[in-house]
Amino acid sequence: MAYVTKSDRMLIGGELVHSSSGEFDQCINPANEEVIGRSPRGTKEDVARAIAGAQAAWPAWAATTPSERGARMRAFGQALKARAEEILHVEVADTGNTVTPMRGDVGMAVESLDYYAGLIHELKGETIPATPDNLHITLREPYGVVARIAPFNHPLMFAVARTAAALAAGNAVIVKPPETSPLSALVLGEIAREALPPGVFNIVTGTGATVGDAIVRHPEIKRIAFIGSPGTGRAIQRAAAEVAVKHVTLELGGKNPLIAFPDTDPDVIAAAALRGMNFTWQGQSCGSTSRLLLHEDIHDAVLERVVERVAKLRLGDPADPATDMGPVNSRMQHEKVLAFFESGRSDGARLMTGGRRPSGSLFQKGFWVEPTVYADVRPGMRLWQDEVFGPILSVGRWKTVEEAIELANSTEYGLTGAVWTNDIRNALNVARRVRSGHMWINGVSNHFLGVPFGGMKNSGVGREEGIEEMFSYTEAKTINIMLN
Ligand code: NAD
Repeated sequence: MAYVTKSDRMLIGGELVHSSSGEFDQCINPANEEVIGRSPRGTKEDVARAIAGAQAAWPAWAATTPSERGARMRAFGQALKARAEEILHVEVADTGNTVTPMRGDVGMAVESLDYYAGLIHELKGETIPATPDNLHITLREPYGVVARIAPFNHPLMFAVARTAAALAAGNAVIVKPPETSPLSALVLGEIAREALPPGVFNIVTGTGATVGDAIVRHPEIKRIAFIGSPGTGRAIQRAAAEVAVKHVTLELGGKNPLIAFPDTDPDVIAAAALRGMNFTWQGQSCGSTSRLLLHEDIHDAVLERVVERVAKLRLGDPADPATDMGPVNSRMQHEKVLAFFESGRSDGARLMTGGRRPSGSLFQKGFWVEPTVYADVRPGMRLWQDEVFGPILSVGRWKTVEEAIELANSTEYGLTGAVWTNDIRNALNVARRVRSGHMWINGVSNHFLGVPFGGMKNSGVGREEGIEEMFSYTEAKTINIMLN
């Protein structure tokens, strides 16, 4: 296969450049392991240049009026929209995610730019009546240069939607795309170069160990926002703390429960379980409800329907709109999921469907695994405790509401959760007592712009997607005007 894009440059200080090392990494299509592009292998020097460019750019960006800044952000969104089909093509080939739902990612990026562009006027401070004769006020000031480190499941969307708040607050940003799916960011660099002032938006590709670490340890970057795995999140907190006092927010993994009560319809729960698992991203979604906790009265009926539906999912070319599930993102992801199949076997979970690499000539190459359901999964098992970030649904059962809540809370994670029942008291009781940052009642999966998203426990710190996210890219300054 030929390259899916000619774009192969980073965006540093307003210039499209190769790495200072002159080296590239090959980009692989996870569906067939063919080389589909190349991305610059960024260096510590590239990071330093990007930060110097951003340092020079942010004061003028922060000094624009809310209307001017908002207009630039909206124009950036429109420019993205103009190349949406090209980005979609690149993203599907580079991630393995299926084309139909992936179509929404550019839309979400544009919508987020519009949303935060409209919020800029809300960067207000306060007046505090601390003394009767003087004036005590606060202002919100941008950090200056901030960083966004992104994972592989929605590379373009995270690079844009999760930097919009920082831009709105008047910061210049450095984006570090995921190393296994960096290509859409290289297209994005070309668009950002035209749409935004030089140095306001920078993209440095490369490995986490080199580029990511150099960003985290750079003394000029006080605000770091990370989306990725818990292990990397903790390494970032550690590395940042070794250098300086920094504001680090973390959006990490989940092992999210879907709790179904006996007053629900087994067909409805089965459909929700599939949607909640996000098989369409091969389960590679932080918010996936990967633990299905069924009341014993409906357990067998729901399980039977879930297994039937999962077994019918169509695997195939992610670019074909008829495909339900593509390959997982990388060789490493593939090995991880295969190891979970092994642990399911050795822990004694009951394999209901899937559990191996699919057969057939289409799946000989590439990072394919079958969508999988295990029943009788219990708290002592890895399939209960560990985030797979792959297409494995673990099913457990409960008798009393207390037991359901205890089971839901019995992992180190607390990102999302869902409760399904028509009894409002049960619904609210469970939603309030499950220690997760984002709960759905009779829903799954959806994010809503303006509604905060983020994790409790080891699923993270900080909330994104609402106005709090914009405020998190500012520092409060207090001024006391002494009149007496
Ligand atoms: P990862 O932690 O391996 O990598 C994420 C990013 O961090 C990549 O860009 C990587 O290059 C970089 N990185 C790696 N080591 C680094 C270091 N030492 N210093 C700085 N940067 C470093 O995660 P992944 O495998 O790409 O993504 C999967 C994980 O992301 C899952 O755990 C998933 O739950 C999580 N995730 C969370 C959310 C959320 O909103 N909570 C959303 C999507 C994904």
